[in-house]
Amino acid sequence: MTEIVGGRIIVDDRILAGRIHIEDETIVGVEPDEAEAAGPLLAAGFVDVHVHGWGGYDAMGTSAELDGMARALLRRGVTSFLPTAVTASLPDLAAFSGRVREWLPTAPRDGAQPLGFNIEGPFMSPARRGAHDPAWIRQPAAVDRASLEPLLDGLRLMTVAPETPGAVGLIRWLRGRGVTVSAGHSAAGLDDAQTGYAAGASSTTHLFNAMSGIDHHTPGLAVAALTADDVYVELIADGHHVHPALWPIITRTKPADRLLLVSDALALAGTGVLHGVIGSLEVAVDADRCTLRSTGALAGSLIALDSAVRNLVRSGVALPFAVAAASRNPATLIGAGDRGRLATGQRADIVELSEDLAVQRVMRGGQWLAAGS
Ligand SMILES: [Zn+2]
Repeated sequence: MTEIVGGRIIVDDRILAGRIHIEDETIVGVEPDEAEAAGPLLAAGFVDVHVHGWGGYDAMGTSAELDGMARALLRRGVTSFLPTAVTASLPDLAAFSGRVREWLPTAPRDGAQPLGFNIEGPFMSPARRGAHDPAWIRQPAAVDRASLEPLLDGLRLMTVAPETPGAVGLIRWLRGRGVTVSAGHSAAGLDDAQTGYAAGASSTTHLFNAMSGIDHHTPGLAVAALTADDVYVELIADGHHVHPALWPIITRTKPADRLLLVSDALALAGTGVLHGVIGSLEVAVDADRCTLRSTGALAGSLIALDSAVRNLVRSGVALPFAVAAASRNPATLIGAGDRGRLATGQRADIVELSEDLAVQRVMRGGQWLAAGS
């Protein structure tokens, strides 16, 4: 099967009028052609490494829920994702891992492709738990490695608060087992944060949310994350989790290949439903903000990465920069180097976008699969 897709191709840091040549699942060539200058915008498929659910379906649910989530995400231009667990008991997290692992080979062809899974808890600071159930938070020093073994196969990303007892040893151990570690849900001071990155944490869970922020006398995790050029940072660009006035501090500070757009979306996303649960905690939606009923804390977003890209571009960020943060950078973070760019040798995962950056069509692995919503 060969196919040619023409348009304005978003290639790394520029937009190129031309055609993408595809054979089966793979891009075999990208050639410039000014005749395509009026064609649609073409972005690499989005990769959401932090997403708890979508379209009424929960990542911690059954295989049918995972099917529904994958299909709902694909319609928003997300061609790859990591189903993401919130903090739960270790047996429940092991059950989640087992369910996703069993589901991976059966995941629907007409949905976003799962690349393993992400577990956000239980190794967080109780002081920065956000919307996670405090009953299940654990210190790394208090959990033996054997009880984590059942989580490892397929685990691509895990959040650890670097200042908690035993965190540095856990970060090193996870890295050694091939898991990417993200610092977050943390009250770390600058030294502990830097020690966590030096131990092998390479990313940062939703920068500014649930962490020690920018205080000019007592800098914390956010400062360590922003000032270390090799460290990735997640941004939930829904306009609620981080005020857009702060976005330039992130986009002007981080190198273009270190910003990650994540949705951190809940199952409620895309449904219009106003009440639900995250883990065991009740949440309520008011306008497009979702908060815990108990504390009023923000409890994840209701967006997908297409909205995040639009919001970032409307804030003045160049389109190729925003698209790389939604596709190339998250793919690179988790070692999925076969996708995330529109270039020869990459998987043919393509999102066709309108002038106002709405998803028109989505190609996954060389096949047009879903119209946008
Ligand atoms: Zn989350």
